[in-house]
Amino acid sequence: MKQIGNILIEKGLITQSQLEKGLKISRDQNTRLGMALIDLGYITEQELLSTLSKQFGIPMLPPGELVVDPTLLHYITPQMAKEYSIIPISQKGDAILLATFDPMNSAIVGRLENQISRRIIFNLATNEQINSAMKRYYLGNEDMLSSMRYIEDYKVDSVLDTIDPDEALLESGPIVKFVNQVLIGAIKERASDVHIERDGNDFHIRYRIDGILKTMFRPKLSLHPMITSRIKVMAKLDVSEHRIPQDGRIMFESEGYKIDLRVAVCPCIDGENVVLRILNTQNKALELNQLGFTPKSLEKVNTLISHNFGLILVAGQTGSGKTTTLYSILQKLNRESVKIITLEDPVEIRLPTLNQIQINPKVDLTFASGLRSILRMDPDIILVGEIRDQETAVLATNAAMTGHLVFSTVHCGNTSEVPVRLAKMGVEPYLTANVLLGMIAQRLVRVNCTHCLHEENTPKDLREKLGIDFATYIGRGCAACAGIGYRGRTCIEEITIVDNEIRQKIIERATSQELEDTAIKQGTVTLKESGINKIRNHVTSATELARVL
Ligand SMILES: [Zn+2]
Repeated sequence: MKQIGNILIEKGLITQSQLEKGLKISRDQNTRLGMALIDLGYITEQELLSTLSKQFGIPMLPPGELVVDPTLLHYITPQMAKEYSIIPISQKGDAILLATFDPMNSAIVGRLENQISRRIIFNLATNEQINSAMKRYYLGNEDMLSSMRYIEDYKVDSVLDTIDPDEALLESGPIVKFVNQVLIGAIKERASDVHIERDGNDFHIRYRIDGILKTMFRPKLSLHPMITSRIKVMAKLDVSEHRIPQDGRIMFESEGYKIDLRVAVCPCIDGENVVLRILNTQNKALELNQLGFTPKSLEKVNTLISHNFGLILVAGQTGSGKTTTLYSILQKLNRESVKIITLEDPVEIRLPTLNQIQINPKVDLTFASGLRSILRMDPDIILVGEIRDQETAVLATNAAMTGHLVFSTVHCGNTSEVPVRLAKMGVEPYLTANVLLGMIAQRLVRVNCTHCLHEENTPKDLREKLGIDFATYIGRGCAACAGIGYRGRTCIEEITIVDNEIRQKIIERATSQELEDTAIKQGTVTLKESGINKIRNHVTSATELARVL
């Protein structure tokens, strides 16, 4: 590509002395000659590109936003994209078509082809087109990657031998910057927890994203004590104490958000492990239609919550999003004419004008004792965080009987198990049948990353188990989803409205299987069916549904 300068001279676009100036700058600043000439104002990018295009027969991509095939993003890491100013566009047979504004010399092309194990074809695009595509497709990972490079560039390991460890922890020091990047990265990736762990000779930092742990960094082992020390300093813990567990808090500000980090440090046999729980104090309740329920389900929920009294129960395991659903419902019901009181453990989101009470068993403020006292406060709507004992169950059904709309959660798998569970807790079935308006059961499934979606290789037994006879899709893992293949979560739901037939079954102490059969006849879409519909629409994968069912 050395001749590019001469070609531009032949075309009369630049002079010999301009070429020499450009060459010097490209050497001194380690930029490409074309860019140097553009920066110097000798040629425009358009002139350079059309010359290159004509001279070498390289097609130019149409102006405007580049259309990138997201399934190819994993071939080109954000670093490679940045270093070579390239972005993958499409596949041409076994080759990958990359956009560039400067076709490189064959040595670099060879190295790139080796790195990605695919043949490369170039098309031309402007610097701005490539930069804007890079921002769109690689956003979020750039900072984290630059911090990794930061650590490596500064060769902290060798620096450590020569500097005072205290100095490495100074505000401008590499450890401080790295820890900040780890925390900001966690917030950007929407992680709920950060685990900083040493296990034998392995030191890794994992994020819990959408409920699943994923290793994000493997810093050098020698950095372990300094990184844990830095976190202890931030959490105002005793840095010299290494033998007992310590708890603390860090208030962290990231891009205008205030974030509360709960820090737990625990001595393990290989050194101290740290877990940071990220509490976003600005979390807001979602609107009902943002939960991922189908329009039909939303209609059922709206029917249920239009009652003035009765009991509505949400079933699901811990982490199934039950609380989120209840907050959305309460937010919808919240208006001047009604009084809403909640009993929660813990209060996760604050809703304006609601009376929210945090349970505290240490002073005997339990769901049961709290429920007894709030009934004296003239509420219209009551939320009891969870029904897990006879006393709470009986109190909640009585409250529903006496003219209150009562919401609560029960720890069980699907809607038809709810009446059976209440009976086991000692609530008379005729009472349940009288007050129960309906049950919602739900799970959270991770959402396929739309940038790296491809056909899933679903094992035969899984297909049979789910009864799937169509192609399913899953994310492969790319820059947009931090290599996980999923980004975000959505609900799968099952809603059963208690009608006369189900009421009769409850009174007859029917089994959960009998209740389920009746509910399906009545039109209830089961959790499994709800999940399969999401797979059919490529929202989630068969593997993911099998994980949560
Ligand atoms: Zn992806």
